[in-house]
Amino acid sequence: MVPVEAGADAVLAKIVDDLKTAQSAVDKVTKVDQAKKDDAKAKEDAKTDAEAKAKADAEAKVARWTCEYCGSSNPHDATSCSSCGAPRSEKKAEDEK
Ligand SMILES: [Zn+2]
Repeated sequence: MVPVEAGADAVLAKIVDDLKTAQSAVDKVTKVDQAKKDDAKAKEDAKTDAEAKAKADAEAKVARWTCEYCGSSNPHDATSCSSCGAPRSEKKAEDEK
């Protein structure tokens, strides 16, 4: 006859083993899930960067420029100063980037 304690140990060992199997399965799923989240976050970050860049570019296109001779603010599409008539400096446009 098998001692009761030996039987209990066997049951306990099986439960512990099952728990380990279950835990490793959970770890695996968690890892895959985390990898998906990281990937999604990386994509989201890249998207945000692209959107921020597009926004900055759009703003740069409509940004007013300041005349380097008289300091007047001119519309983005003006090629010369509306106040003194000086041509828009390309260097100044580069500086505003
Ligand atoms: Zn001017």
